[in-house]
Amino acid sequence: MQQDFQQVLIDRQRIADRVHEVAQAILADLSRETADGQTLDITLVPILTGSLIFVADLIRHLPLRLRIRLVSISSYPGCATQSQGVTFQQQLTDIPSDLSGQHVLLIDDILDSGRTLAAARTLLAQRNPASLRTCVLLRKQRPGIQRMEVDYACFDIPDHFIVGYGLDYNGYYRNVPDIVQLKPDVFAPGQS
Ligand code: 5GP
Ligand code: MG
Repeated sequence: MQQDFQQVLIDRQRIADRVHEVAQAILADLSRETADGQTLDITLVPILTGSLIFVADLIRHLPLRLRIRLVSISSYPGCATQSQGVTFQQQLTDIPSDLSGQHVLLIDDILDSGRTLAAARTLLAQRNPASLRTCVLLRKQRPGIQRMEVDYACFDIPDHFIVGYGLDYNGYYRNVPDIVQLKPDVFAPGQS
């Protein structure tokens, strides 16, 4: 597997340190919601499958009474005749239709165009949560595109295709502990 990697972009120690830091920021913001000392009703909504490892690490730095509700969203680029087209297929597996009173944190692996997260956020906002924040592990630098803002991003990265720490290529590499860039010939074997 190692022979497929071009470079390590972010190593496991940097990831661990930064995930801890972002968890502290989330904790601080949520505790501001509890001015009256009440226990918050907190719901984390990780988008599968890429946020799997991120969320597993993040929650162990959040000593809060919280629930996790998984959501699966697949985005499909439109065909060539639909130049703007992106179609989302949402399966809200486990999300109540009424989230009133709940403080929701929506979590994804990477913010690229922002369409995946924006679609998920819209769906959750319609369910009337007490608060709704967004958190990503990675935010790709995409100069010139307009996209949604997120509340928390662990790392800003260049516009490269990356894998590892939950992110895949063709379903593989999610188990790589670091965030890595693949060699070009992994995408087009024998052509480079
Ligand atoms: P967006 O809707 O923001 O354009 O795309 C976000 C989704 O595309 C992410 O949830 C992720 O599944 C996928 N994605 C975007 N960039 C990368 C990348 O560099 N590597 C991998 N493995 N997935 C990516
Ligand atoms: Mg994804």
